[in-house]
Amino acid sequence: MARVVILGAGIAGHTAARYLSKWIGKKHEVVVVSPNAKWNWIPSNIWVGVGDMTEEDVTFDLKPVYDKAGVTFHQAKAISIHPEGSADSESPFVTVEFTDEARAGQEDTLTYDYLINATGPKLNFNATPGLGPDNGYTVSVCTAKHALEANEKLHEQIEAMKKGEERTFVIGTGHGMCTCQGAAFEYTYNVDHTLREAGVRDKARIIWISNEYELGDFGMGGVHIKRGGYVTNAKTFSESLMVERDIEWITRAHVNKIEPGKIHYELLDGSMGELPFDFSMLIPPFAGVGLKAFDKKSEDITGTLFAPNGFLKVDGDYTPRPYEEWSAEDWPKTYQNPIYKNLFAIGIAFAPPHPISKPMKSTNGTPISPTPPRTGMPSAAMAVNVAKSIRDMVNGAEKPTHHASMAEMGAACMASTGSHFFRGSAVSMTVYPVVPDFVKYPAYGRDLSLTTGEVGLAGHWMKYVLHYTFMYQSQMKPGWSYMPD
Ligand SMILES: Cc1cc2nc3c(=O)[nH]c(=O)nc-3n(C[C@H](O)[C@H](O)[C@H](O)COP(=O)(O)OP(=O)(O)OC[C@H]3O[C@@H](n4cnc5c(N)ncnc54)[C@H](O)[C@@H]3O)c2cc1C
Repeated sequence: MARVVILGAGIAGHTAARYLSKWIGKKHEVVVVSPNAKWNWIPSNIWVGVGDMTEEDVTFDLKPVYDKAGVTFHQAKAISIHPEGSADSESPFVTVEFTDEARAGQEDTLTYDYLINATGPKLNFNATPGLGPDNGYTVSVCTAKHALEANEKLHEQIEAMKKGEERTFVIGTGHGMCTCQGAAFEYTYNVDHTLREAGVRDKARIIWISNEYELGDFGMGGVHIKRGGYVTNAKTFSESLMVERDIEWITRAHVNKIEPGKIHYELLDGSMGELPFDFSMLIPPFAGVGLKAFDKKSEDITGTLFAPNGFLKVDGDYTPRPYEEWSAEDWPKTYQNPIYKNLFAIGIAFAPPHPISKPMKSTNGTPISPTPPRTGMPSAAMAVNVAKSIRDMVNGAEKPTHHASMAEMGAACMASTGSHFFRGSAVSMTVYPVVPDFVKYPAYGRDLSLTTGEVGLAGHWMKYVLHYTFMYQSQMKPGWSYMPD
């Protein structure tokens, strides 16, 4: 009997666990290690952050779902990976620290035959002094709890505005090396919509601040889309959305410090600026969660297994090269570690070979450019394909049987611009492929028949349907495996 251990129960880890339990769970053991008792449909945290959904709407308890599916669940966080075992035993293992009430702080080891690292990002608020809800002055929507707090603070501002006061809202990225602009973009429009619904939009100044070179970069080097027979770029598309809603923007910005009511930033041209604010939601930069790795002699091999940003190296081509020589071929396909063939990393946890947007530095030498997008649909696609490969390897295949390169897969993104059954809307975008391939698609790097963008009420309904579909599917209710991921 083989044991597959999955670290992390987010979009990637939970998807892998669902399929592995269905395909090999009867004969083999599937184990999930994750520090939170609950699963969170993170994309809907945006709606929690404006009061349109509750924490209960976007989360559920994992244990009963795993109990029913025959998956062993440890509420714990992984600390280190020992892919060669120890001096006493060749069985590879991970060390974990429990986080449930009964065993909090206790450590244990778990041996594995296959290990999937799906630990997602460390929300690196410490990268910018004053950033974030715990030790700083900005709010976040990255977790359901953060989003609840953001909503409370938003409504405090709304109450003040109802009394006639004016307020400044700053939303965007909190560091020069952020990704996940899409989430901040979506939250901006939801705040705008909420202020309009409350009848106080005329009292608000809303400012978007980001590390993108131009609006609409999204860490994927921007995108061209075909609309009504003509080709436009995401810069024009995003600017028109901002102008229509009277939202100002600052791009090419590295937020370097936040004080109460004041954001300090540096621009690519080397100039420094200050922005007063009453309410600010800034996305932190992402890093790996800080797992360590040791060989059988207990020598630290963290630097061999992980990239400097803490993400696990897989089958990508990590050879440093100038931007002009990057290619779609550099991107991982199987997510298998090149040294330890029973080790995989999926979702945000794998190390991208390089950014997609051109790296830039300010005249002061500060890096200011988005890192690659790490969205949900590719994370789930990697999970399904790695689960298929492990299923086949457990059954005798010598190497991974399935591929899911971000340079060969598309992504669909529904960014809500306000939740309401009749007055809601969403920007619906599809991109193919996520990583542009200028060999296959020399003009724009992408297939324009599959790269589209629209704004409208239908997109809002679709986003709503997706929310309930994913909540249903993730709870492994009847028929879940027939539903698309
Ligand atoms: C506000 C917001 C809105 C978004 N909206 C969209 C959207 O509309 N569409 C879209 O496609 N994407 C969206 N995304 C991105 C999407 O959420 C991510 O792509 C996705 O969650 C990545 O999945 P993951 O499994 O890699 O990471 P996560 O979902 O973050 O899961 C990581 C898991 O690992 C666990 N973990 C952490 N440390 C450890 C450890 N040491 N040991 C064990 N487990 C650990 C965590 O608790 C968690 O369970 C959004 C992101 C944010 C923040």
